Parts: sequence; C-alpha cells; structure tokens
Amino acid sequence: MSLSGILGHSQPLRVLRRAFVEGRVPTAYLFLGPPNVGKLTVALQFAKLLNCTAPEHLDDPELVDCCDQCPACMRIEAGSFADVLSVKPVVRIGRGAQTESTEFEGAVLTTEQIGDIISRAGGKLSRGKHKALIVARAETMNPEAGNRLLKTLEEPPPNTTLVLTSSSPSGMLPTVVSRCQKVSFHPVPLGELISGLSTKYPHVDPGLVETVARLCSGRAGWALSVLNMPDALMAREELLSLLLRLPEEPLVAAMSLSEELIRLAERWWMALNENSDAAHDVLTRSSDRVRRVALAEVLDLLGSALRDLLLLTSGDESLVLNRDHLHDLRDLAATFAPKNVRRAAAAVEQVQRHLRGNANVRLACELLLLQIMQTCRQGPGGMSV
Ligand SMILES: [Zn+2]
Repeated sequence: MSLSGILGHSQPLRVLRRAFVEGRVPTAYLFLGPPNVGKLTVALQFAKLLNCTAPEHLDDPELVDCCDQCPACMRIEAGSFADVLSVKPVVRIGRGAQTESTEFEGAVLTTEQIGDIISRAGGKLSRGKHKALIVARAETMNPEAGNRLLKTLEEPPPNTTLVLTSSSPSGMLPTVVSRCQKVSFHPVPLGELISGLSTKYPHVDPGLVETVARLCSGRAGWALSVLNMPDALMAREELLSLLLRLPEEPLVAAMSLSEELIRLAERWWMALNENSDAAHDVLTRSSDRVRRVALAEVLDLLGSALRDLLLLTSGDESLVLNRDHLHDLRDLAATFAPKNVRRAAAAVEQVQRHLRGNANVRLACELLLLQIMQTCRQGPGGMSV
C-alpha cells in the first residue's frame, strides 16, 4: 500500500504531503476523527514516506508518495523497522497475557508503552531517515505518562515525529494537545467509497461492493477488511439467512439459533483479524470479551437489515443498505408490520446496550431472537398469525 492507495482522506493527505515536500514535518501530529476511520493506516503510510529510499513524485505536493518496494517501505509495512514504532492500548486477557486492541473496552496505553515511545524518540536513528512514533487512542494514556510525553514534545529530538490518534481528545492532557498539529479525519463519502472500492475489486459483484460501501458508514478500512476476507462475507451471508429463516422457525429454536449467532460473531472476529494465531489466542483466553465486541458488529449488521426492512415496509428503497439482498428483504418485509420492525430494531439496540454492560451474552442473544421471532409472527397487519 502507499498514500495513493488510501481511499478518501484527501485533505489530511494533502497536509501531510505538503509538509514532507516543504521539509516542515512537525514534531507531533494529532490525528482526530471517529474510531476506525483510517487514522492509523494514514499514519503508517506517512511513516513509509518519511523513510522511503526511493520516494516517487518528490517535487509534487499533490502526488508525492513512498515507493512501497524498498526495504524500508517493506519493513515498515511488516512492523519490523526500528525507526517506526506503533503502540495501541492493551487489555489483560488472562494471567500474564495481554493484547493490543483499539476495540476492547477498558484497553489503555500503559506507562511502559509510552516509556518505549519516549526512549525511542530520544535514541539515535537506526537505519531510517526519520523516526515515526505512532500512539493510537492517545486519550487512554494516564496523566503521568502524558506528562512524561509532554517533556519529549517540549524538547523535540531531531528527525522525529510523533503521531497521536484520538477520537475523543477531551480525555487528553490539554498541554499535550496544544503541542500537536491537528489533522482532522472524516468518514469517507459514499460516492468516493463506491468508486474507490470498485477500482480495487474489479472482479467482485458491483452490488456487493456497493452494499459493503453503504454498510461501512465511511470507514474505508472496515470495507477493505470485509472485502478482503471471504470468511467475513460468508458470515454476513449466514447472518442474513438466519434472519430470513426466523419467520419459519419455532420459538423453541431460539436457544440453538442464539448459539448460531454467537458462533457467527466469533467467525466474524477471526475473519476481521485475518484468522491469525494471535486472534485465535485472544478468542481462547478471553472469549466473553471477544463475543461482546464481535456481537456489537454483527448486531450492527442485523440492525442494518432491520432498518432496510423498515424502509421497504414504507415503500422507500433508495436508502436500502443491503442492496445485494434487496429481493429477499422485500419478501421478508411483506411479513412485517412497520411498527413490528421498529420493535425488532429497538430490541437489537437494547441488547447492544446490555452487552456493553454485564449482560449474559447467551441469554441476551436468546431473548433478542425470541423478540424478533415474535414480531414476525404478528403479521403485516400487526395481528398474531
Ligand atoms: Zn520505499
């Protein structure tokens, strides 16, 4: 990948490229924007540009880019380049084990991680040209670590840039925020996503590309992960088929269907983490936490289908998200009264709230499916059938 391979974010890229071409890269950036919008991806590609041994379009602030082929670019991409360090919040997942994640509730940047960043900032360049030290979700560092980091920002080491990312900078020390140059990130507009994804995936069904673009709510990284992983697409297919089956299933099946939903969530998690050994380890050690995080996403997908049903029951197809299943959803919409779809969608939201708390995962899923099955049975006129 390179800067030109990033979908959207033209304004942040313009700011970064111009700073590079003009030799005015600041000591610290603060990338601001919603979670999972692509801040870390841009930070990493910018780190490649700073260290690339054969940058392209060097004199053009609109197009300058890393080569993506030299040893520096390849090592940075692989996470094994001494002058580029990236830290994410960690969470304990059992005795003596922890995992880096930007998704888990309660994950924090530790004093040791910030200590690593500070000592790397103070050290000499290894083989690179410019140290790039990336701190994800900077609002999760504690004030003590923030104060230590502030000292580094006040006495900036040469050829070093820190990139802090945050979706809620009010949780950061104001003195740290004020030392950083802010760069704002926004969700990628739908049209830009559809055209960018269609170019990247010319062999994927255009209906599916459009659906993923609509479902991702402007998070291009999410769309790329889903389109890259057949397992994720398969899990979504099975989720939709589970929803379509609900009107036919007896209420007593809620228990086994809830198991199915939980398995789908686990598959979703594994797929979006590229079926890696590390993801499997986290799932084994901390299955309850993984299920809560993954179910939130899977229930978002279920919620999107219910929202589509609501649009279809009111005869408005233009804003339907799951366009690749328009036909099936139209059929299902015929079995629902709009107020019942609304009730089912509200049940999904309620379960998501409960899962963020301490609700029992299995029980919450069972109740949700029961509620949706009962609303299906009330028929399009709102009467029990
Ligand atoms: Zn390169």
